[in-house]
Amino acid sequence: MTNQHGTLNVVVSRDRSANAGRTTLENAVAALFAERAGATVLVVPHLYHVPEDDPVWKKLAGLTGRVVFLSWLYPRPAEWLLRRHGVGAEGLLALHMGAYETAEQCFEAAAANLAAAPGTVTELSGKPSKRWYPVLDYSRCAKCRQCLQFCLFGVYAADEGGKVRVAKPENCKTGCPACARICPHAAIIFPKYAEGPISGDDAPPPAAEEGRPEKPIDFSSLAGLDIHEAIRRRSTILRAHQEREQAKARMKNPPEEGAPRDE
Ligand code: SF4
Ligand code: SF4
Repeated sequence: MTNQHGTLNVVVSRDRSANAGRTTLENAVAALFAERAGATVLVVPHLYHVPEDDPVWKKLAGLTGRVVFLSWLYPRPAEWLLRRHGVGAEGLLALHMGAYETAEQCFEAAAANLAAAPGTVTELSGKPSKRWYPVLDYSRCAKCRQCLQFCLFGVYAADEGGKVRVAKPENCKTGCPACARICPHAAIIFPKYAEGPISGDDAPPPAAEEGRPEKPIDFSSLAGLDIHEAIRRRSTILRAHQEREQAKARMKNPPEEGAPRDE
């Protein structure tokens, strides 16, 4: 399906909890985009929880044209989750459906310049399972590799150019957001974490956050700082270390669940 701006694909990522109100909004907004914007609409399971090798990812990566992505994630993690899987190279707009009270409002937010023509809605089943892993925001990442050195579980790897990637997401420990605390640029997102900026909610400038370190961890570097600044940084680093140790301990005693939002 095309309009005057080329092919328009709309991907609606369902809520994981099957909340009736959310399902109604998802269905309504999918129908609106198909009917009024001439979009090809794909309704998919909650994409954050879809395994790496699920055919749903291949289907989405094969979409040509722009992609409007509607999900229950903040726009930043939503965008980088899709980009990691090669989705939306020709244009990507991510919207959080939770920001809108009605399907009409959500549609209006995205569809101001789309042509009116009939479209289609298709639902892809996929096989989601509850997952927990980092999503990297490459618009912020400075390739410092601090996350790579910090994680004990081999989640990260770096390519020859120094670009860090999430190589083994399944190795990440549920509920552990430790590396997100020590990233100097707030580039690591855990979309299911309860609070911003780790959740991907619009973050304040990293320097204004609770002592996020500006360069690789070195406790001796705290010595020359103003006492309040040193305490702030030290407590953040210590918290990250503590969370990493807890993740290690949970390997011996498997967790019931972490403290992610259940969306
Ligand atoms: S710690 Fe943050 S900025 Fe450094 S490589 Fe990792 S994601 Fe990028
Ligand atoms: S959250 Fe913990 S286990 Fe997961 S990538 Fe970060 S440091 Fe590694």
